[in-house]
Amino acid sequence: MQKRQNFSRKRKAILDVLLSTEIHPTAEWIYQCLKPDYPDLSLGTVYRNLSRFKEEGIIVSVGVVNGQERFDAVVEEHEHFICEECGAVMDIKYQLLPDSIDQQLARSCGLQINSHSLIFYGVCSECQKSAKVSS
Ligand code: ZN
Ligand code: MN
Repeated sequence: MQKRQNFSRKRKAILDVLLSTEIHPTAEWIYQCLKPDYPDLSLGTVYRNLSRFKEEGIIVSVGVVNGQERFDAVVEEHEHFICEECGAVMDIKYQLLPDSIDQQLARSCGLQINSHSLIFYGVCSECQKSAKVSS
């Protein structure tokens, strides 16, 4: 019983970390965040819980950046930008695409569209600034 309570406490803590940040963290980042409060937490437990959350549809994977998967607790469809310099993953907070885009594609290609994801790659404004400073 004790063990089980402990497990769900960690599970909740992992989800809370994801919900409290916009950086789309890696498993490692979440682990480092929780380590001070949960000294017996292992990276494997973080990975296991994240893949369970993914299966349950509570979180999504945005993609792999520099070899590490990035997670998002915002599961509503939205677009992302990934900085190729610093690896930042950001939400695009503009309505870029018409709501009808899925239906348009379905009609013109005869496909059934269930969802879509769109990622833009480039250099974020912070990295553009520091490039100017150093040149
Ligand atoms: Zn950057
Ligand atoms: Mn996002």
